[in-house]
Amino acid sequence: MTSKLTTLLFSLINLTSAYTPLSDASLSLIPSGSSDFDPLSGALLSPILIPRVPGTPGSETAQHHFVNFFRTHLPDWTVQWHNSTATTPATGNKQVPFRNLIFRRDPPWATEGDVARLTLVAHYDSLYKPEGFIGAIDSAVPCALLLHVARSVEEALRRKWVGMGEGDGLGEEVGVQVVLLDGEEAWVTWTDEDSLYGARKGCWDGILTSNRALAESWAGEGNGAGTFSTQMESISLFVLLDLLGSANPTIPSYFAKTHWAYEHMATAERRLRKLGLLETKEAKPFLPDLQKKSYQFTMGYVLDDHVPFMERGVDVLHVIPTPFPPVWHTMDDDGAHLDISTIRDWAKIVTTFVAEWMDLDGLLPPLASAEKPNKGGHEKEEL
Ligand SMILES: [Zn+2]
Repeated sequence: MTSKLTTLLFSLINLTSAYTPLSDASLSLIPSGSSDFDPLSGALLSPILIPRVPGTPGSETAQHHFVNFFRTHLPDWTVQWHNSTATTPATGNKQVPFRNLIFRRDPPWATEGDVARLTLVAHYDSLYKPEGFIGAIDSAVPCALLLHVARSVEEALRRKWVGMGEGDGLGEEVGVQVVLLDGEEAWVTWTDEDSLYGARKGCWDGILTSNRALAESWAGEGNGAGTFSTQMESISLFVLLDLLGSANPTIPSYFAKTHWAYEHMATAERRLRKLGLLETKEAKPFLPDLQKKSYQFTMGYVLDDHVPFMERGVDVLHVIPTPFPPVWHTMDDDGAHLDISTIRDWAKIVTTFVAEWMDLDGLLPPLASAEKPNKGGHEKEEL
């Protein structure tokens, strides 16, 4: 009885403070993605540096890239499509298809309705106009980063869950999912410099068709018997990456409610930097608001994919720079204007955050040879 009670108490404590910082040794095993983020030839990024307007062949190419990646390299992640259609201001009566993709990894013994999932999100669609717009930071790079993160924690997750057997049934049902959203962008273009405010307003009017649909589905879908009655409730934190890949980003902490999560990510960045594990050595921190006080938060935030989820009570960590990078919504948002060192640093920072959230200290495998420091140059990494 006593030991049972102790176990229960221990588990409850774990539930509220499961986030476990990695040791320095584990931090040194976090991979950067190496040449996989090369815009011309990188296995993760280069195939999606194409226009990805919903309902076009480019969009299908991106979808196949994501699905093939998980099916080939991460077969234990489930794949779900979430389809919807809508008309847009630019396409008249035509119903445009929007297809969100959800890749999920739950503890193998867990009942679906019991799993709290760290939810990692980016949008993969690109602007309808200007024609030929790529959207490298918006958001091909964030999508590629999430593929990298999933790949980088998989072996450690497997080791952790094998070690846990059937779990203890007392709150260890912690999973992770990657959600790649369609239909974030506006369909009405605003090219006049003077209408920046209007563009954002325009964006807001046109965007969120598809993720609004997903939010509605997830708020309404039953989860069966379990701890969480809907898919929405089972999101423990909604981490949204957007506009990442330009040099010198500054990511503010937007929400007092989730500043604790921001602190974790900012601390991970600080520790990686201190250990000399990041490439952007002279840069100021990407996440500088570590010391932000509760009275310093304002009501202002960037309208983005998280809104329909946040409106339903989901906790959100929004990883988007303010100010936006200068290439934002211009034809310069392409592979040539990316900063690869910054991308690889993001790869390490976000992977560390996820590994700490998922409690993977001591479980990470050795780095692939292409990742090893002092190797000189970045060779093609074997996927
Ligand atoms: Zn955009």
